[in-house]
Amino acid sequence: TTEKAWLDERLAYIKAYEASEKRPSFVSDAEIEAVLKRKADPERLEVEEVLSKAKELHGLTPDDAAVLLNNRDPELWAEIFATAHWIKQEVYGNRIVLFAPLYISSPCVNNCAYCGFRHSNDQVAKKTLSPAELEAEVKALITKGHKRLIVVYGEHPASDVDFMCRTIETIYAVKEGRGEIRRVNVNAAPLTVEEYRRLKEVGIGTYQVFQETYHLTTYRKMHPANTLKGSFRWRLFALHRAQEAGIDDVAVGALFGLYDWRFEVLGLLYHALDLEREFGVGPHTISVPRLEPALNTPLTTSSPYRVADEDFKKAVTVLRCAVPYTGIILTCREKPALRREVIALGVSQVDAGSRTAVGGYAEMEREHIPDREQFQLADTRSLDEYILELCRDGYIPSFCTAGYRTGRTGCHFMSFAKQGLIKNFCLPNAVLTFKEYLLDYASPETRDAGEKTIARHVEDFARRMPQRAEKLKEMLSRMEGGQ
Ligand code: SAM
Ligand code: SF4
Repeated sequence: TTEKAWLDERLAYIKAYEASEKRPSFVSDAEIEAVLKRKADPERLEVEEVLSKAKELHGLTPDDAAVLLNNRDPELWAEIFATAHWIKQEVYGNRIVLFAPLYISSPCVNNCAYCGFRHSNDQVAKKTLSPAELEAEVKALITKGHKRLIVVYGEHPASDVDFMCRTIETIYAVKEGRGEIRRVNVNAAPLTVEEYRRLKEVGIGTYQVFQETYHLTTYRKMHPANTLKGSFRWRLFALHRAQEAGIDDVAVGALFGLYDWRFEVLGLLYHALDLEREFGVGPHTISVPRLEPALNTPLTTSSPYRVADEDFKKAVTVLRCAVPYTGIILTCREKPALRREVIALGVSQVDAGSRTAVGGYAEMEREHIPDREQFQLADTRSLDEYILELCRDGYIPSFCTAGYRTGRTGCHFMSFAKQGLIKNFCLPNAVLTFKEYLLDYASPETRDAGEKTIARHVEDFARRMPQRAEKLKEMLSRMEGGQ
């Protein structure tokens, strides 16, 4: 009954919000379909013009993006891929930021057709971490070398905003050896402005809400109307409310596989443009989760819109060209070989060594726990193994959280990014936090590869910024001395 009372109250709140929210929706099925139709068959010249514009690094309009999305010429696709790769190198360099998801609770009042945690799915056992279990999960993650988490909650009275604040404070307080978690991002249901303010007070990093699909007709099919998630507009403006509450790093995403991937790329672009228009800053990151199998969840394997690998690559590529200063997150949902390919096309953040079952890190040796996980991951390699691959591919892994701790968030981060400073400020921080990882957690093989990676990047940095490189070298030797 308390669950029912909570649910009724929240539903009434959302209904009242819908009636009072004056902002017009920034997406509509008809408008996005019209853009795609208008640019249905682009000429070579048109594609090339859009690519030149993308290289100016000021982003693209929905019409420009539709030109790329609708291109059918394989030769031109090769050019589009190359442009995205160039943009990624220009803005982000070789740096790849690492994080892990931490599933804290799975009980959920919603019934999303694609999710293993949905209310009506009695084949997946729902679980909420106790304080002791939470601490054990955090320690397990710290012991692997993680510094950044995204915490994940089901929507339920037992995981309301009080619970979220308590658990986040617990995470920040855990110390294990020389490590701790330095940035906690959140992926949870849309909240009220007042609730977001509470989360800001406990020092969260980014707040992430995935729209799942920007196609209203599909949204209604996936999310029953009488559930909290049934309100498209409550979710559509979730991140606007977060911004109003002062959370200036917000993150968007679409669940690829529910509807046409081209439509979703444009939906994400409209969302980014609307946040930028209203708050002067677009989303901090864009996520591109793709539908994965989940126990007793037939839609995950039968959806007619499941996205082929090649199309998935195209989606990331067009996003990279369209919003050059927004990070793109790729997750362990994807298999190792594809992750490798997609990273080169524009990804700046990835998770590694991840589990999607609540309590999954305490049982790390089990790659899959089907009756407890939200969906099945395709990349279950350890963080250390994955870092070795990144080094061999020429990237520099970063655990840096300094930008956020020194107030380089929201607009500040964006203007910083737009001046091309990510490569110069973030590189030394990547080197230092990676060195920390190598000293404290790496296997001998990864340490060896990692030291070579660091040496190469420091050398390159010294050619560009000799004075700052001296300081960096000095700091590295202090770390070797135990600091
Ligand atoms: N319950 C909150 C919500 O739905 O906003 C927050 C977390 S939900 C556990 C995290 C995300 O997982 C969802 O937004 C959805 O995009 C993604 N997801 C759900 N089912 C999935 C599946 N079968 N495959 C891949 N991703 C999935
Ligand atoms: Fe609940 Fe989120 Fe899963 Fe929907 S996606 S059933 S809201 S946990």
